[in-house]
Amino acid sequence: MTLTTEAKSLLLSLGVAEADFSGGTMPSYSPVTGEQIATLPVDTPETAAAAIERAKAAFKDWRLVPAPKRGELVRLLGEELRASKEALGKLVSIEAGKSPSEGLGEVQEMIDICDFAVGLSRQLYGLTIATERPGHRMMETWHPLGVVGVISAFNFPVAVWSWNTALALVCGNPVIWKPSEKSPLTALASQAILNRALARFDGAPENLSQVLIGTGEIGNALVESPDVPLISATGSTRMGRIVGPKVAARFGRSILELGGNNAGIVCPSADLDMALRAVAFGAMGTAGQRCTTMRRLFVHESVYDQIVPGLKKAYASVTVGNPLTSSALVGPLVDKLAFDGMEAALEEAKAAGGVVHGGARADVEGDAAYYVHPALVEMPSQTGPVTEETFAPILYVMKYTDFDEVLEQHNAVGAGLSSSIFTTDLREMETFLSARGSDCGIANVNIGTSGAEIGGAFGGEKETGGGRESGSDAWRAYMRRATNTINYSRELPLAQGVTFDI
Ligand code: NAD
Repeated sequence: MTLTTEAKSLLLSLGVAEADFSGGTMPSYSPVTGEQIATLPVDTPETAAAAIERAKAAFKDWRLVPAPKRGELVRLLGEELRASKEALGKLVSIEAGKSPSEGLGEVQEMIDICDFAVGLSRQLYGLTIATERPGHRMMETWHPLGVVGVISAFNFPVAVWSWNTALALVCGNPVIWKPSEKSPLTALASQAILNRALARFDGAPENLSQVLIGTGEIGNALVESPDVPLISATGSTRMGRIVGPKVAARFGRSILELGGNNAGIVCPSADLDMALRAVAFGAMGTAGQRCTTMRRLFVHESVYDQIVPGLKKAYASVTVGNPLTSSALVGPLVDKLAFDGMEAALEEAKAAGGVVHGGARADVEGDAAYYVHPALVEMPSQTGPVTEETFAPILYVMKYTDFDEVLEQHNAVGAGLSSSIFTTDLREMETFLSARGSDCGIANVNIGTSGAEIGGAFGGEKETGGGRESGSDAWRAYMRRATNTINYSRELPLAQGVTFDI
């Protein structure tokens, strides 16, 4: 069976109409073989505007449904995802080139966030606050915000939607999703799964969740609309630099989840075997195409000759191959653009004095697919391409001597997403997690930079955009807060003792 046939049969089994993925003008490819697997009809700025109108109408009703009842819809979504886990996971593997285990893991993440959001639907707490005025009470209430626009990247084609959608729905908001043009099929499938949950739910308005197919131009229709109070945009820092100011200019709210340039530090006291395994997964897993992929590694000079040879060995022996037909640990890059980016970065690294191990193209599925051997690059210092994210499996390794200096180096890049330290020294560990330590949104100890769980707030600082999604109190971004003061006395005292006697 070709991937085209397989994708078609999965889409039909998941409930997507054939007209939604064939006969259109937008091609969709599988990075596994490079073959074109679908041609989708696309949206236009006009159809996007119509979708926004429909979502606005849905908001009027949905905001009035009690939050725990809204949670029931998300509970049903979790059930439907459980029932579709195999099929959707397989489609993720076909469309994003992930291994079966990673494809299934992504769907599991969707299920996890649904479970989280169901509980959350009964915990959208506001505070009661002491007031300075007698006979008064002050409190905070949280209300639904309005239409949420979700723009997502190709590398987590469905999980990011679910992080946003599960929370947005329990918070009382409709969602319009513009998935990456490189991964539209899994978006259609996710919408079909949600449609099944909606069919089982009594009391949801029409058009609570819609998908728009197209490029950044369609995403831009959401970004520029004053009727979309929240834009949650996941993708490159380049995209965020365009989207962020546009949303801000109309006083909209944005959750920006942008690029990372994540580093690990291996200290003298580290468990080196553990560090090696964590670095190998963090740097080579998903072919280096996670926002949290480890891209820089600082190794203390006293253990450099112990860990770097082990890493070189791991890089030389890691299996690269078709993730659907082999048990290879490293699958394809998404496309030629990604491959070109990797080659250019390696050339730059060499010019800056780097010694490159690996990095060559691997002939796995012919010319149309882009497989590479992951690259380990020993760098004399943090220069050239090391300071920027290249979305491919390149790990730059650097030697350090002084702990304070390595902390400076660690933080001396634009991105601020994820970080980790490998140490058994309590002082180093706590310093890394302290105010003068890692400046990232995620700081780990003795685990790699990637592989976050949904319970924590996910996101990063600086050029990563500052947004937080998923667990903890990330839900607050999807609601508007009102401070209410109630006077139950017969007097009218003014705050700060101000008098105004008429
Ligand atoms: P990308 O920036 O090329 O595209 C992301 C999305 O933005 C796509 O849907 C695209 O159509 C849309 N887009 C592009 N320009 C736009 C515009 N002007 N207006 C509106 N929408 C626009 O990113 P990609 O190549 O799909 O994904 C890889 C990047 O995403 C990496 O930089 C990676 O680090 C980042 N990423 C970040 C996170 C995170 O949570 N921080 C998660 C996943 C991926």
